[in-house]
Amino acid sequence: MSEHATTPAGETTPLRRDGNAHYYNQIDPPATHFIEQTVAVHLRLSDDGTRWIVDGPSVDGHPLDSTYRDLSATNSECACSQPKECARLRDHADNLPLPTGAELLTMLADALDAPAELITAEQASSWAGRALTADELDRLSEAIPHSSIPDAIDTIAASWD
Ligand SMILES: [Zn+2]
Repeated sequence: MSEHATTPAGETTPLRRDGNAHYYNQIDPPATHFIEQTVAVHLRLSDDGTRWIVDGPSVDGHPLDSTYRDLSATNSECACSQPKECARLRDHADNLPLPTGAELLTMLADALDAPAELITAEQASSWAGRALTADELDRLSEAIPHSSIPDAIDTIAASWD
């Protein structure tokens, strides 16, 4: 995967880890169209009243709801000069399912260029030989820095030089 996108003017802009430009460029638009959609993440006050938490309907496994009045994707801010092609792509985008809460989590991590999770819960459970609970995974996260694992990683990374 290339780390840079090339604009029609030949300039390069850094790419996010998910392979996309960070922003659509209105002044020097790339060869792609600017098709937009939004999703609502419903929050509620935590049971102890101290903070906002994501409410159940936003993590129930169903696609999140659009916040647009007509629920449809829009190309109103695309700076292209191919309205027919632009409308066709917008209509195609409207057939794509909106992300679920879990899918949005991955999308946000990609957009934030957050580092990949080093060990997944599934991998840790596989190594432990049984499904680990959320509490056990928390304990594991706290124990790893005080274990022999940092030394093992140092040895592995040193062998790459
Ligand atoms: Zn367009």
